[in-house]
Amino acid sequence: MREVPELHAVPPPPAKRRPVARRPVARRKRKPADPGRTWARRLARYRPGLVADTLGAMRTMYGRPVWQRVHDPTSELVLTILSQNSADINAEKAFDALRAHFPSTRVSSERQASEPSRVNRPGWGGTGIEGGAPPDWDAVENAPLPELIDVIRPGGLAAQKAPRIQASLRAVRELRGDHSLEFLGDLPATEALAWLTAIGGIGRKTASVVLLFCFGTPLMPVDRHVERVSKRIGLIPPKTDALAAHELFLAMLEPEEMYEAHVNLITHGRQTCHARRPACDRCAIAPRCRFVDPKAP
Ligand code: SF4
Repeated sequence: MREVPELHAVPPPPAKRRPVARRPVARRKRKPADPGRTWARRLARYRPGLVADTLGAMRTMYGRPVWQRVHDPTSELVLTILSQNSADINAEKAFDALRAHFPSTRVSSERQASEPSRVNRPGWGGTGIEGGAPPDWDAVENAPLPELIDVIRPGGLAAQKAPRIQASLRAVRELRGDHSLEFLGDLPATEALAWLTAIGGIGRKTASVVLLFCFGTPLMPVDRHVERVSKRIGLIPPKTDALAAHELFLAMLEPEEMYEAHVNLITHGRQTCHARRPACDRCAIAPRCRFVDPKAP
């Protein structure tokens, strides 16, 4: 019998490893940097105490303004539109003309007719508008455009502002049923701002003025005075536009500082930090102002 050779056990070939499907690594989305917070942190690091020192210095010069509502929000809106690119005193003339031409029988919720006439709000550059009821907004909204242009002509840029005023009044009435903007006081700041700026012709500055002065909403309207003074001191970078400046201020200031900062920056711009010849020799901010010393702390 033939001997059967012993079979050696041949190890099976190694099993081919199936490539394991790797889950794509979820990349963590980086949050876009908030320019306001970034700037506020940078300012706090390299120029500590600048915001507090500026507010304190202005307080010694002009006092601490106390918030008080002066106009109803619809009047404030129209007055602010009238003041766009015009001197406040001319905007007042146009507003007074509106009231005389489109009188209303409604009593102002802010002031009674018996109260002293001309009132203005802090930081306002004119002499104030007449007391009493606001104009008849229905009549203003529905007036023939040439007539309205004629009425507000003393305010300047009437041909641009008349349609803007009518469009704003129309939008408010269509959305709310009347011209009252009182409901904005019940909304959070961002919602109220979004509601107003969604109306064509109402920008961030105009909306912020209405909300800050009528409801104390902590927003910072950035006008030419606020912008100029802040850039000179170095509170905001030199190339910041008004829209970006608004965001920087919201990050730099506490909500309860917003009204005081706005009013005093405007007052400072009007009374001391003039566009042409700032009176630095009598300015309490001078030791920290980059206009005076580019290396000021
Ligand atoms: S020191 Fe002069 S430039 Fe600076 S804030 Fe005062 S007035 Fe303006």
